[in-house]
Amino acid sequence: MPGEANPFESLQEQVGDAAAYLDVGDDVIERLQHPERVLELNLSVELDDGTVGRFEAYRSEFNGDRGPYKGGIRYHPGVTRDEVKALSGWMAYKCAVVDVPYGGGKGGIVIDPAEYSEAELERITRSFAKELRPFIGEDTDIPAPDVNTGQQEMNWIKDTYETLENTTEPGVVTGKSLNAGGSEGRVEATGRSTMLTAREAFDYIDEDIDGATVAVQGYGNAGHIAAYLLEGLGADVVAVSDSSGAIYREAGFHTRRVKEHKNETGSVTGYENAEQEFSNEELLTLDVDLLVPAALENAIDGDLAHDVKADVIVEAANGPLTPEADEVLAEKDVYVLPDILANAGGVTVSYFEWVQNRQRFYWTEEKVNEELERHIVSAFDDLVEEFEAHDLPNFRTAAYVVAIQRVADAYANNGNWP
Ligand code: GLU
Repeated sequence: MPGEANPFESLQEQVGDAAAYLDVGDDVIERLQHPERVLELNLSVELDDGTVGRFEAYRSEFNGDRGPYKGGIRYHPGVTRDEVKALSGWMAYKCAVVDVPYGGGKGGIVIDPAEYSEAELERITRSFAKELRPFIGEDTDIPAPDVNTGQQEMNWIKDTYETLENTTEPGVVTGKSLNAGGSEGRVEATGRSTMLTAREAFDYIDEDIDGATVAVQGYGNAGHIAAYLLEGLGADVVAVSDSSGAIYREAGFHTRRVKEHKNETGSVTGYENAEQEFSNEELLTLDVDLLVPAALENAIDGDLAHDVKADVIVEAANGPLTPEADEVLAEKDVYVLPDILANAGGVTVSYFEWVQNRQRFYWTEEKVNEELERHIVSAFDDLVEEFEAHDLPNFRTAAYVVAIQRVADAYANNGNWP
């Protein structure tokens, strides 16, 4: 992967860049560049062979001015304290962009889950949940899935918390399975907001998404669903990738079949209808109408940005472009629709799940998707208004200007205490 940028420094730079367009004091901006608290843990968990493993884990609570801390938990060998801090900040601004009443948080365990059995993963997850118990709760801090976690991990966290608290509180965590209090539409929500953002962006620049060529980097939950929904709009998904490499087909892929192939073999490569296979880097520099980075941070750095040929980039991953890449792409007039809008569908439907949990009353998938569309389209419109009114360098700055103003207003209303 190109780019070794520290994501926490990227976040601080993004907030600093937006601050230049805001009438908010330097002291407040400095506060909004740092998490309020970070929990660092070493989990001791018994492994299947009887030995005890040590697992480093983090939870960063970035900002609580607009509501409880909210954000996912990722399992990845590359997790670091700074990465979790950055991701928690992106959550705070994401929640503000789509105007859901949460602050930002994020957690992670330094682990490659593929190397552990299901029973070990359950014990590791429950151990993390036990340590998090004093900090989480439906009104305090609400975890959710992220990279390499999903419904199963959320169900374990909910069960551990409820057992220790001797209560039922499904809203302590979101992204659960339906029979554990999850919401219709939650699994698809991140990819759906990516599709909706792309649709609105193409409409804004007066281009047709029907027939547009698309490359998607990353074929996990966000990437494959974004690809599938874009295919549904008539776009040709000509290239997709995962960590094993990229595949290409000029007429576009049947995205569901590629997913079935990945489920069966573990990767997108080797798919029978692919015409070419190449590296992730080549996928990112393809001459396509739309590029969707849906993997990890720092996928495109300043150097690689010079070779990017896409007209529009919609970020399904968190932090896939470094601030240097942003600068280069702005000079090249590439429209970049930022993560804190384009992947905000996940937390938006998490919010709907939490509302349903608290009311013990559940919505149809149709209602979830309708409300999600309303939130994303309205956030997109707010961002365009800001972008045009103040002649901002890019949509990312517009998104941060909108978001920081909302957080700073909440902070001003709350007051500083003591
Ligand atoms: N992990 C997702 C994100 O990065 C979802 C977070 C949530 O639902 O709280 O936005």
